Amino acid sequence: MLKGKIAVITGGSRGIGAAIAVKFASLGADIALIYSGNSKAAEEVCQAALGYGVRAEAFQCDVADFEASKAAVAEIKNRFGKIDVLVNNAGITRDGLIAMMKEADFDEVISVNLKGAFNMIKHCTPLFIKAKYGRIINISSVSGLMGNAGQANYSASKAGLIGLTKAVAKELAARNVTCNAIAPGFIQTDMTKSFGEDNPLVAAIPLKRMGRPEEVAEAAAFLAMSDYITGEVIRVDGGLAM
Ligand code: NDP
Repeated sequence: MLKGKIAVITGGSRGIGAAIAVKFASLGADIALIYSGNSKAAEEVCQAALGYGVRAEAFQCDVADFEASKAAVAEIKNRFGKIDVLVNNAGITRDGLIAMMKEADFDEVISVNLKGAFNMIKHCTPLFIKAKYGRIINISSVSGLMGNAGQANYSASKAGLIGLTKAVAKELAARNVTCNAIAPGFIQTDMTKSFGEDNPLVAAIPLKRMGRPEEVAEAAAFLAMSDYITGEVIRVDGGLAM
């Protein structure tokens, strides 16, 4: 159970982040979700979470912005009193082959997916250290484990997240702060909406189907409640990257 815990979920307005927010709420956690621009979707997720009798509030913030993410963490701490769990889920794609990839597309993906996680961890760490408690969960990807053609920027950001996860896990373990990653495969969300079940890549998944956001949320809940797992990467990919 996560009763009494305050969970911050970036990119909580849609897809995997929304499923994590609702799952955590169902386990009793109060929810602070961060979104980029879609306030209507964020409000809907808050409403779903409120249905479990917990607190749920949405905060607009570009996680790639160091000062804005600092202000968001301070505001959440102010409103909720503490932060126990941080899920770095906000992510974007700007796909293209390396020969055509624009510098801006590389920079933007690294800024949101990798620097965004750094920003949030950096600003939450003083709270975790003071509380002698923290659970950090970074949403990576099988693209970060295997590399994916057409996603040099995204694969680099997701591989970077795994290095970040392990370094932070080692640094903060003595403070009872764990840091783990989840590497989803192909999950049905807006990010993959151009990607039907008939896509030939689905045939390469041993379990022969795309995953559901709720299936990633199960792994996130497991890690949020675990006290003795740190520096781990859990694949939720139907066997794709084994
Ligand atoms: P979606 O595109 O469905 O949702 C993305 C979420 O991130 C939205 O809530 C969006 O907010 C938020 N977001 C985007 N940019 C920012 C930003 N700069 N600051 C704050 N929030 C931001 O993505 P998914 O649910 O599919 O993916 C979630 C995570 O899982 C990502 O990190 C993705 O890389 C990873 N992943 C997804 C896979 C998949 O198959 N779907 C596979 C492997 C990993 P808003 O609604 O306001 O736009």
